[in-house]
Amino acid sequence: MQKNDIYEIEIEDMSEDGSGIGHIDGMAVFVKDTAPGDVAEIKIIKVMKRYAYGRLMSLIRPSEDRVEPPCEVARQCGGCTLQHVNYGAQLRLKRNKVENCLRRIGGIENAADLCEEILGMEDNPFRFRNKMQFPIGRDKEGRPVLGFYAQRTHCVIPVTDCMTGHGVNRYIIEAVKEYINETGVSIYDEESGTGLLRHLITRTGFTTGELMVALVINGDDIPDRELLVRMLEEAVRGYGSDNLCLTSVMININKEKTNRIIGFESKRVFGRDYIYDYIGNVRFRISVESFFQVNPYQTGRLYRRALEYADLTGQETVWDMYCGIGTISLFLSEQAKKVYGVEIVPQAIEDARGNAELNRIKNTEFFVGKAEDVVTEIYSSGGDGSHADVVVVDPPRKGCDGKLLDTLIKMNPERIVYVSCDPATLARDIKILSESGGYKLKKYTVCDMFSHSGHCETVALLSRNEVR
Ligand code: SAH
Repeated sequence: MQKNDIYEIEIEDMSEDGSGIGHIDGMAVFVKDTAPGDVAEIKIIKVMKRYAYGRLMSLIRPSEDRVEPPCEVARQCGGCTLQHVNYGAQLRLKRNKVENCLRRIGGIENAADLCEEILGMEDNPFRFRNKMQFPIGRDKEGRPVLGFYAQRTHCVIPVTDCMTGHGVNRYIIEAVKEYINETGVSIYDEESGTGLLRHLITRTGFTTGELMVALVINGDDIPDRELLVRMLEEAVRGYGSDNLCLTSVMININKEKTNRIIGFESKRVFGRDYIYDYIGNVRFRISVESFFQVNPYQTGRLYRRALEYADLTGQETVWDMYCGIGTISLFLSEQAKKVYGVEIVPQAIEDARGNAELNRIKNTEFFVGKAEDVVTEIYSSGGDGSHADVVVVDPPRKGCDGKLLDTLIKMNPERIVYVSCDPATLARDIKILSESGGYKLKKYTVCDMFSHSGHCETVALLSRNEVR
């Protein structure tokens, strides 16, 4: 295969960043702007050792799964890489991806039989995100715009709304633009590091209806706070839902030249410093900086499945590794004797402890540190927490640390519930737990937390013994 060669190719799969993938003589070829099921004429533009890139020349037979992306900027934005594929097909792709990883990397031949029905979004696969961040910039005519950064750049592409977020955002974006026009407040310029307004952040409690609006600024205060609040209140009224209430208006201070959006200090402009929301029956307090799962509908369903796999009777000791703000720990605590959580970010553990208190949950205990260090030490000491009936892990994309897996095997829990945001590392870790620890994959569920993106979340149950 050489550059400029022309081929006919059938697209079989999709990469995470939205390129279609097909094969020519066993070699994977990535082609932008295609969808699985397309038969296309392509031109090879770059040949690497094990794969190549092609450019779409013409569609010979478009896939039956193609749809017109409902969002105008879907192609430029890069957030929704699968919007041109219908939702049913998106779910099929995600299920297949997990199954393939488990088979190829994990060596689990019967992976297809162990897969439960995928948890896709039940009604509309849009409007699920409870948090949005819009950079603020100016267009060529100098008018204020809010939008997103075009892929791999820092140009703001203007949007009036984002279909994955709450419908009120459209009104909030308009209000912020109006506020900028009325006050003449300056807008941050990345090159020079001058100007005030950087980002708009909105957070919505989907169960409580509480709304937080925050402006990230390169300074200490904003002009005419009352005008901003008045305009935001009007925006919420304009959206016209009785269930939504402007609960908090904040400014967040970020004076650094950095890609990090949110700074370390926030000030209240109106209402409370935080909003509340629920996952299941557990209430969470969410501030500007807090980590909180972005799709509250699907998070609840995923954690209910994790709880089901944990199969608790009230007598068990449970470890929640990589616990974040304790969402899973608190969710499991009602049905366990004791839940221990460990997480590397100190602020997250502070939130976890605060949320336990808020819910009057008394049987949880949280530790700050690397799971592999903290848990290994506790296990070696032989004291409280050295035994677990059930272990839940929810690691970042790189998967579990090898030392943690060793300790886990020695701890010998009856069940391991593995929540994963990357099926490749999930499969790798299952292989380790199986070969060195005798744990077998019993069943798993794929859950669609980020519709229209390539991400897929999985929850898997492992045990050495028979499970219910
Ligand atoms: N279960 C949590 C989120 C898990 S995301 C929830 O549902 O909210 C993965 C978490 O692992 C992140 O919070 C990250 O800070 C943490 N983390 C990363 N490396 C870690 C390590 N070595 N030990 C403990 N926690 C770690």
